[in-house]
Amino acid sequence: MSRTRTPVVANWFTGEGEGFRLLGTRCSACAAVFFPREDVHCRNPGCGGGDLAEAPLSRRGLVWSYTDGRYRPPEPYVSDPELPWRPYTLIAVELEAERMVVLGQAAPGVHVDDLEVGMEVEVVPGVLHEDGETTWTTWHWRPVGASA
Ligand SMILES: [Zn+2]
Repeated sequence: MSRTRTPVVANWFTGEGEGFRLLGTRCSACAAVFFPREDVHCRNPGCGGGDLAEAPLSRRGLVWSYTDGRYRPPEPYVSDPELPWRPYTLIAVELEAERMVVLGQAAPGVHVDDLEVGMEVEVVPGVLHEDGETTWTTWHWRPVGASA
């Protein structure tokens, strides 16, 4: 039986392989970009409010900070409290064009020793969790040039 691939959060990312992109929204009035996406009101306090349109984010950014998670992360991360916690690597990535920092887990096999501030990373499709019927998909950050 094959599992259904389902995004762990709807409409936060799209595409496959090289076409994989995070989805934010952009305000038509002030051009501010939001991720997680903001679909109701522009959050720029200096903006009178504009229409919010879906906007794919840059695929690549620079490592702004990183750490390894030694505690269980909050929702929407899924973890089974019955299982021992496995540390994972979390990266904060600065997207220059959008002027924002986006958090995400590092791709499997990428550890804090592999990272440094300012390193270029790219967003890639990832798997957060699998259960009986579903592969829950998410995004990962991976150093540019690293093998899959
Ligand atoms: Zn705005």
